[in-house]
Amino acid sequence: MNVERLESQRAVVGEGFEIRRALPNRHRRMIGAWCFLDHAGPADYPAGQGITIGPHPHIGLQTFSWMIEGAILHTDSLGFRQWIQPGQVNLMTAGRGISHAEESPADAAGRFQLAQLWIALPKSESEREPSFHHYPDLPLLDRGGFRITVLAGTFAGEEAPAQVFSPLIGLDLATAGGAEIALPLDSGFEHGVLTLEGETRVDGQPLSPGALLYFAPGRDTLNIASAAASRLLLIGGRPFGEEILLWWNFVARSVEEMEQATRDWLEGHRFGQVQGARGAPLVAPELRGLRLRS
Ligand code: MN
Repeated sequence: MNVERLESQRAVVGEGFEIRRALPNRHRRMIGAWCFLDHAGPADYPAGQGITIGPHPHIGLQTFSWMIEGAILHTDSLGFRQWIQPGQVNLMTAGRGISHAEESPADAAGRFQLAQLWIALPKSESEREPSFHHYPDLPLLDRGGFRITVLAGTFAGEEAPAQVFSPLIGLDLATAGGAEIALPLDSGFEHGVLTLEGETRVDGQPLSPGALLYFAPGRDTLNIASAAASRLLLIGGRPFGEEILLWWNFVARSVEEMEQATRDWLEGHRFGQVQGARGAPLVAPELRGLRLRS
């Protein structure tokens, strides 16, 4: 099918914070190299009940955090301790192994909205040294009533600063009122559009928060419209073309790699130490029934 409508699943992250998970989906695991998409909030939370995600490991992927409202503290085993604020991106490249924790401000009530995505590393980059980058300023454009933030890749000649290892794009489109745009696309990419807030029309179809529209390669434009305040996320990329396993917080090519990473986390090897995190370290679920899929 050239266009598919996918429904997000509800999931819980950290200590009881409910989010919508758009990827992986039962019907589609990846869009380009994007292999995971959580939308948290928008939500108001009382003091002490924001997000707390204790230290946990990653391999074979990049975590890409797009902060829309509120703030989160990232700490990791490389020693980075970085607040992320609205309009900013944190990019953590796990490579052969890193661990990190994320938490809301400790003692105050707050409001929170975040898109957290993962980008699978191609096999040639999957063992690279881990790294972390904070991007406080991203390219902004105004088109057709939308304020467009270039999160990843290049759009209209504006290149996002995030270093990625596959051809891909990520855009945030926000409007305070009515807006309409014929968005130019790379026809070699597949794309997905998720409404984060408000009601939109994408390719003529109504799209509410939680639903993701998938577009197969071969399109060079996409009509996006909104009659009132709204926000959308567009992701895309060249079809990944490699078979991967995605399990817990790991992307790998074999069950043996998953077992080794799980063992290394349990035994305190490879992933270093996260200093000063509020939450308890996460424990891997039991690894069973894992099969190689693309
Ligand atoms: Mn993580």
